[in-house]
Amino acid sequence: MESQPAENKKFKLSFIIPVYNEEKTLLELYERIKKVIEELRIRYQILFVDDGSQDRSVQILQSLCEKDAGIQVILFSRNFGHQTAVTAGLHYASGDAVVVMDSDLQDPPEIIPQFVQKWQEGYQVVYGIRKKRKEHIFLRIMYALFYRMLKTVSTIEIPLDAGDFCLMDKKIVKLLNSIPERNRFVRGIRSWVGFNQIGIPYERDKRFGGESKYSLGKLIKLALDGFVSFSYAPLRFASYTGFSVSAFSLIYGLGTFFQKIFTNTTVPGYTTTIIMICFLGGVQLITIGIIGEYLGRIYDEVKNRPLYIVRGILGSPEGQDSEMKPDA
Ligand code: UDP
Ligand code: MG
Repeated sequence: MESQPAENKKFKLSFIIPVYNEEKTLLELYERIKKVIEELRIRYQILFVDDGSQDRSVQILQSLCEKDAGIQVILFSRNFGHQTAVTAGLHYASGDAVVVMDSDLQDPPEIIPQFVQKWQEGYQVVYGIRKKRKEHIFLRIMYALFYRMLKTVSTIEIPLDAGDFCLMDKKIVKLLNSIPERNRFVRGIRSWVGFNQIGIPYERDKRFGGESKYSLGKLIKLALDGFVSFSYAPLRFASYTGFSVSAFSLIYGLGTFFQKIFTNTTVPGYTTTIIMICFLGGVQLITIGIIGEYLGRIYDEVKNRPLYIVRGILGSPEGQDSEMKPDA
């Protein structure tokens, strides 16, 4: 394969790093990535995507940029979200392979040489599998549940506990870039494209500094994107519940009918009526909500707005102009 030269020096690795208010971690992150680059003796592009940070992140990135010509910073016009930032990074990456990683050092850069080795053995996608999480117990339970449920219901093989931390061959990057889907669940699409993929277990560290930038709302959105993009199970759940409830009421109805005929007694049934009305009302609202999730996403696709807006690029000749990037 043309992108796997025998000699390391010859290939170029692009690091894609979404940044949202990470002033506390950026310098340390840079130092640790730099060490890995020196160890591998490769050409590199470190591509920070600033997702509308309001702290000193951009200033810090700018100073790094002035120091190191291998660094580029894509500046979003506002916060577009982590998955969108990764997507933008993939659009701008020029390496023979890319590494996608978080900026909080939860994904240890020191494991990247192992990724590279697997890539050179012929795997087009090498992703990290989180062996141990050091997050709050509630979050850990939710993550475990989410990945297992998604695996059961999804239409594709999404590996358990694999996040966005990965290395991808440029062939895969090109493929991902050709998929114009909005509401992107990057690790799902990555798995969907196929080719040779392999997981490497690693210990997910605590975040180096600052707080998690994923609010509960953003996490729920990500989980929903995963479910809705890769599964029809929620829609089926709606129809199955509909069928079950109808069957139940039919049997219940027949039961009361025969009871009336044979025993001439009617049950007072006020409570039952109220419960049934509430239950059915609930089921209907949930069902409409589920359809709404899909419909909203269809609406997003149809509107065809750009996925993100770039207000500037640091560290490259074309950097000064603002530009609007249509979905590539
Ligand atoms: N991030 C981003 N935009 C957002 C939220 C997060 O670019 O709206 C980045 C963040 O800077 C970090 C990565 O996405 O590099 C993962 O976020 P975080 O560590 O807060 O998530 P967690 O690890 O807690 O799930
Ligand atoms: Mg994190």
